[in-house]
Amino acid sequence: MHCPICDYPNARQRLVMSDRFFQTSPGPFVLYECPGCRTLFQDAAQIRDSVSSFYPPGYWWRPDGRASGLERAYRTWMVGHDQLAFVLSLFTKGQPNLRCLDIGCGEATFVRLALAAGLDAYGLDQAEEAVLLADLPGRIFSGSERELIARGEKFDLITLFHALEHMLDPFAYLKGLQKLLSRPGGLIVQVPNRDSLQARIFGRRWYGLDCPRHVCNYSLFAILYLLGKAGYRIRRVRHFSLRDNAAAIVSSVFPVLDPMSQKVKRIRRTGSSHSAGLLMREGAYFGLFLLAQPLAALEAALGRGGTVTIYATLD
Ligand SMILES: [Zn+2]
Repeated sequence: MHCPICDYPNARQRLVMSDRFFQTSPGPFVLYECPGCRTLFQDAAQIRDSVSSFYPPGYWWRPDGRASGLERAYRTWMVGHDQLAFVLSLFTKGQPNLRCLDIGCGEATFVRLALAAGLDAYGLDQAEEAVLLADLPGRIFSGSERELIARGEKFDLITLFHALEHMLDPFAYLKGLQKLLSRPGGLIVQVPNRDSLQARIFGRRWYGLDCPRHVCNYSLFAILYLLGKAGYRIRRVRHFSLRDNAAAIVSSVFPVLDPMSQKVKRIRRTGSSHSAGLLMREGAYFGLFLLAQPLAALEAALGRGGTVTIYATLD
C-alpha cells in the first residue's frame, strides 16, 4: 500500500479495527503502517464513498438539555485557554486586524473567542448542521475551501484544529490551502500524535486513533515532513494541550464515559441527547480528566504529547 504522506510504496497492513467509540460504522477497517514515516492510515480509495457515513447525528456539539449552560462554559473556557491562547502567544507584539479562518469550525466557539480577542475571525465548515449552530451571520462560510478560493478570499492565518487526521489526501489539501493564505501567512495544525506516550501505552485502544474517522494517524515526524513537503516552514511545536491530552487518556481507559460517544449512542437509542444520569457521568469524567492532567503534562514535558500543535508559515 502506497503511503499518502511520504510516498513509501510498500506499507504493510498493521491493524484491523472497528468503530470502537461510536459503534455506528460497520467495519472492519484496515489500517496500514508506513515503515518510512510511521503514519498509520486507511486506504483512501477503499473508504472514499463511505467516509461521510462515519459521522453520525450528534457528532457536532449543540447546546441543549440541562447541562448545556455548564457545557458551553466549559467548552468556551477550554478553547480560550488552549487553542486561542496558543494563537495569541504567536503574536505577542500584537497583530491588529489579523484575518484568520478556522477550518472545521463546528459551532464556532473558537471564532467567537477570536473575535472577542480582536482578531478578524471567520469559520468554515462543510457540515450544514454545524454552520447553522454557529449563528454568526457573515462570519461562517459553508461549503468547501474551493469556493473561498474562487471568490478570491485571503487570510493571514488558517487554523486546522483536529482536521488533517480526517482527510483522505492531506498533502493535496495543504498544497491547495496555499491559495487561501496571504504572504507571509501562517498555518496552525493540531493532530493526535502517534508517537505520544499515551499512544504507546494504549495501543489499539488509544482514543487518538478514533477509527474510522481518523484516516491518517501521524507520527511527529510524519506531520512535520508533510507540512514541509507542502511548502510550509515549521516555526513552533507544542506538545501540551489542556483540552485534549488528558481527555484522550481518560477516554482510552474508560470509553464508556467519553461524552461524545455517550451522546452519539443516546441519540441513536432514544432520538434525544437527554439523559437522567448525564450530569453524574460527566462529573465522573471531569474528575478523571483532572486526575489525568499530571500524566498529560509529563508526556508533554518528555516531548511525547498526546496531541501536537504546530505553527508553520508560508513565506
Ligand atoms: Zn510514509
